[in-house]
Formats: sequence, structure tokens, C-alpha cells
Amino acid sequence: MSRIEEQRILGAGDGRILFVPPMEPYCARLMTAIFRSVGYDARLLVETDETLALGLKYTSGGECVPCPTTVGALLKAMENENVPPERVIFFMPTACGPCRFGQYAKLDQMIFDKLGYGGIRIMSPSAENAYDGLEIGARKRLWHALLVGDIMRKIGMKIRPYEKETGLTDKLIENWMVKLEKAFEDKNIDPVQTLLAQAVEELGKVEKHNVKKPLVGIVGEIYVRSDPFINGQLWRRIEALGGEAALAPMSEWILYTGYIRGLLANEHKKGLGALIEKAKIWLENNFFFEKVEHMYYDIADPILHDRREYPIIEVMEEGCKYLPWQFEGESVLTLGRAALYAKRDGAKAVVNASPMFCMPGTVTTSIFPKLEQELGMRIICNFYDGSGDPNKTLVPVMHYLCEGMRSAQPVA
Ligand code: SF4
Repeated sequence: MSRIEEQRILGAGDGRILFVPPMEPYCARLMTAIFRSVGYDARLLVETDETLALGLKYTSGGECVPCPTTVGALLKAMENENVPPERVIFFMPTACGPCRFGQYAKLDQMIFDKLGYGGIRIMSPSAENAYDGLEIGARKRLWHALLVGDIMRKIGMKIRPYEKETGLTDKLIENWMVKLEKAFEDKNIDPVQTLLAQAVEELGKVEKHNVKKPLVGIVGEIYVRSDPFINGQLWRRIEALGGEAALAPMSEWILYTGYIRGLLANEHKKGLGALIEKAKIWLENNFFFEKVEHMYYDIADPILHDRREYPIIEVMEEGCKYLPWQFEGESVLTLGRAALYAKRDGAKAVVNASPMFCMPGTVTTSIFPKLEQELGMRIICNFYDGSGDPNKTLVPVMHYLCEGMRSAQPVA
């Protein structure tokens, strides 16, 4: 029987290969490098139509699409690289609560057992316990990797739509990503700050057209909104249709879980133990998570000064106008961030990206018409399952947004 190891993920995997799903192109690469820094032979999985078809073959069709796409990518990698189950560790984090995400690792285990792949070990840490089990230094560096990955993607989204030389932004970002990956493979990540500063300096010199394009925010379920394979290259589609995209960052979920831990401690815990617990959470949130976040965004400020992240408390306050925080999960974040994209950043539209059948996605889709009226902004709710072209809904919306923007700009 395959084993799910929530806590015991220390060590270098005894010669096994750690396969990591490619949830987000930049962050996942840097996170995989962190696993290499503690001795794992860690590799990023690749998703294709073939891997998704393989995943769907071993699931029932009703699961949220991140589940079949990740398991299919793993099975294909094992086949391609001729890796026996006994040499495989599959990285599949988990979470508590009613959402199906907490069931992915269990279902993976059942699939592996059915296939006779009981030797596969599933590394399944949880954000709720701050990835307890992984060595403390690596856990801290994962936060750095997430932030730097978010920032590199954001820099690309900010510059690419305006570049004069097509493809230059992507080329430069790829060069810096290779260097950053190497830096994160070391336990001493001090050079990362210098590398990021150099990347910002070079990318800041990319020549740009002096035009304004409509900003389109992307919110929704974290895997689908972040994974270009499943979401049909959503942010590049927005760019191809004449817009600039802004995507909710990966770091948001970690900041959210820290914030929720604080609220839960306030509600449920009493006495001295509770006070100590609350102080610990406050210190972690303020003196580690936010401090490191501010440090990297200060470095990226020359490019991202108007794309800095909102404090998580502001996202929650906006979201809680529509749902109570006790309705835990992504719905509140999705609503709050959409509102802030409109109010703070002047976004002309928001895409709410969810897997087909997604529970939080269905809830937010039912509430968004109210926000659309209140904010005077177009909100497009797209559901993805890896088939068809859900992004075609963007074509008329982007056409009218671009037309409106063009007519509002003075003729040169
Ligand atoms: S957030 Fe949506 S897609 Fe993700 S596990 Fe929950 S229901 Fe499925």
C-alpha cells in the first residue's frame, strides 16, 4: 500500500525521485529547487493533453481537474523516465475542511494501489501546520521561493504587453529564472536578493510602447488560475487580446492561513496558553512572513511599485462584505481581491477562474453579479476542465474594453 506521509518528510528520500506538480510556472520551479537544496532528487512534472487523458482514465470524471492532471503527469513521467514505484515520492499537499483538495492525496493513494504501485510514497504536508515535518530552514526558504516566483511572473505580466521587441521579456526572465533556480538549490540563499535586484534592473530597461491597456485581474481557485496548461494560457490570452493581466499570487494562501490561525485562536482558545499561541502567530505573521514579503517587493519596486500586494487583512475585509470569514477557503479571498483590483488598481475586468464543479468557484460565481453592479466592472466566471476553449468568453469583453481605452486616449 502506498503511504501518505504528512509529517515525516525529513531526509533526502533515500535515492527516490520527488516529483512536484507544475502548479505555477515560476513558483513551482523555485520550490522544486528548495527540495534539491535538502538532498532530494526533485523534478518538476510536465502536463500535456496526453498526461491529462491518462489522469482522467484513472479517475471518475467528477473530480476537480487539478486531481487528474497531477496524477496523470506523474504516471506519464514514471513511464517516460522508466522509474519504478519504489523510487517515487509524489508531492501532493493537503488541507483540512470540506473542500475536495483534502481528498486528492487519498484518491491518489487508491489509484496507485489499484495499479499495483503501492511502493509510491506521497509527501503530503499541510499549510495549516506550516509544513511541519520539513526541516525548518527549508520551510523558511519555501516562502522566499514563493515570493520570488510570484515577483518574476508579475514583472513579466507588467512589461510583456508593452515590449517593443516581441519575446524579449520572456527571454530575459527565463535567463534570470535559471540563475535563481541555481541560487535556491543552495541552503545559503543570500545571493537571491542580489540576483533579483539585477533582474529588476535589466528588465526595467526593456523598451516599451507608451500606450495604456485595460488591466484585467485574475482570481479564483489557486491551481487553475495559476496553471497555464489547464487555464488555456489565460494571462497570455488576455495579453494577446490587447490587455494587461494581474494574477492573484501564490503567496496569498500562506498569508491567509496565518491570518485565519490568528482569528481561530482568538475565538476558541482561552487562558495563558492561548495568549502564548496568539503571540507566536502574531510574531510569525509580522516578523517573518510580512517582513520577507516586504523585503522582496522593495527590491522589485522600480517595476512593481503599482503592483505591490495588498495586506491580507484588506483582502479579507473586502471579501467579508460578502461572506463571513468563518466560511473558510478561497471564496472570501476571491471576492475581496476582485474588489481591490477594481478599487485600487483600476482593473476594467476580472476573470474568476475555477475548475469545473469547484465548490468555492460555484459560490463566488453566484455572488459576483452583485459585485459587478457595485463596482461597475465586468466579471467573467470561467470554469475549466481541460477541454474546449473557455477563454473565448474573453474575446468580446476585451474587444469593447480595448475600444473604450483607445477612444479615451488622446490622438498622438
Ligand atoms: S477549491 Fe475547488 S477545485 Fe480546489 S479542491 Fe476545492 S472544490 Fe476542488
